[in-house]
Amino acid sequence: MIPVALHAANPGPMTGAGNWTWLIPGRVPTLIDAGVGMPAHLDALASALGGATLAQVLVTHGHSDHAAGAPAIAARMPSARFLKCLWPGRDQRWDVPWVPIGDDDQIEAGDTVVAAVHTAGHAPDHLCFWHAESRSLFGGDLAIEDTTVWIPSNHGGDLQAYLRSLERVIALNPSRVFPAHGPIIENPTALLSSYLAHRQKRERQVIDALRSGDRTADEVVARIYSRLGDEIRARAVETVIAHLRKLELDGLVRRCDKAWHIMTNG
Ligand SMILES: [Zn+2]
Repeated sequence: MIPVALHAANPGPMTGAGNWTWLIPGRVPTLIDAGVGMPAHLDALASALGGATLAQVLVTHGHSDHAAGAPAIAARMPSARFLKCLWPGRDQRWDVPWVPIGDDDQIEAGDTVVAAVHTAGHAPDHLCFWHAESRSLFGGDLAIEDTTVWIPSNHGGDLQAYLRSLERVIALNPSRVFPAHGPIIENPTALLSSYLAHRQKRERQVIDALRSGDRTADEVVARIYSRLGDEIRARAVETVIAHLRKLELDGLVRRCDKAWHIMTNG
């Protein structure tokens, strides 16, 4: 299967060069991710459809750069349906009738079928879409070439779930990932394995920082990251909190008020 890359025309501080959305042409024309509703994106979509009617949009998760374009697509292409894993409290930001989908749902797309793979971690509702025949994965924000993925621990991110999701996708042994950001990932197993190694290294650093007497995420960030600008620093704090919460779930640290303490010498 060869999907058509359609840029969402939304470069910015949070999205870098902007998002890719992917059109699977065929009997059930299907768009993966909605973009943000930029006219240039909608024009490119209409042109790529070449007169065919868009049947549906599969949304990988409820972050606005993936979901916010749904109402604009609905206005221009009224027969399209919008499918995603529900995120209560979030999805109603975008006024379309969301059709709920979940793990292992088989969804007709183009002239073939893709399977939803629940891959929580970056967001609680995150789905990838797996095309078994070509071993291709529509990856959403699971992986981005040349960088790591942010786990927003105060906004639905969950590092433990993310690591499980990485392991699950590695087990699928994908040959290629069509991501929402950056270039097509041609060697996904290497990238996903490097993410696991990166998180293990960070975890080690967080444990060592607590052993050295740090008690708050801010203190840990000051120790293990070199000088950071304010915005990146705020993200680093959320990343460290994600690690601390994972270590708490693992039974290795506990939280007392705002201070984190190490539980073992392991
Ligand atoms: Zn996202």
